[in-house]
Amino acid sequence: MNWFERLKSGIQTVVRRGMPENLYVKCARCHQMALRKHLESNAGICPNCGHHFRVHYKQFLDLILDTDTFEEVASNVRSTDALGFEDRIKYGDRIKEYGKRTGMQAAVCVGVGRIDGRAVGVGIHEFGFIGGSLGAAEGERISRLIDRCITDRLPLILICRSGGARMQESALALMQLAKINAKLTQLADARLPFISVLTDPTTAGVSASYALLGDVNIAEPNALIGFTGERITGSSVGEEELEALRQAQRAEKVLEHGFVDLVVPRTEMKQKLSHLLSLLGETAGV
Ligand SMILES: [Zn+2]
Repeated sequence: MNWFERLKSGIQTVVRRGMPENLYVKCARCHQMALRKHLESNAGICPNCGHHFRVHYKQFLDLILDTDTFEEVASNVRSTDALGFEDRIKYGDRIKEYGKRTGMQAAVCVGVGRIDGRAVGVGIHEFGFIGGSLGAAEGERISRLIDRCITDRLPLILICRSGGARMQESALALMQLAKINAKLTQLADARLPFISVLTDPTTAGVSASYALLGDVNIAEPNALIGFTGERITGSSVGEEELEALRQAQRAEKVLEHGFVDLVVPRTEMKQKLSHLLSLLGETAGV
């Protein structure tokens, strides 16, 4: 007899009423469970250990900008598959898939807004869209934002969360690093301030170019900041070296070595940006 065959007819399977999905989130640092609503009301920071979770770009903008002041620009610039690239899936399909998940057309959102009444140009990576990677559309969006800052004499803030240049766009992605750096030179020539905010993770081509070129570079606590991540390095070094690398690439260590100027908790980020803008803006006349 089949063990799974029902002997009596009419038996209904009871549907268990479990907890709603996504009610709790496990902290990657202290491994404690935190209620999602507590996290959301605490700026995405673990109430137990202070670990800064990655939050959606809209939530981050809400935390640093005055209410309802953000106006997106260059939203018509979208990621496209210019090279007809295909790995496990077609790159064009990947763009569509991540677009559905995040509601974005590229991994960077740029626009203008206000911090304590002061107008600023602001750009932010969304890690949920192909690891926040930088492709042609993202580079073009940031470049247009910098143009807008120069035209309207606005300070620039870039919030970085990125695995680097987007591999699927090859040299088209790599050239964005040089393009943005050239645009930042134009911004500096116009004597406009640039504040870079490095959040977890800021790695590879983005950390090796504009993320660390701010007049002031601010990191979030414990953010991974480095060039090569452990997935790549881990294949060529031992566990001891890998652990040393993990420690060396954290915001506090990077601060010790002078690559960033400040480590600021997310809850204090707006206040710190506002203060820096008032200091830098006075010099720049903005
Ligand atoms: Zn925690």
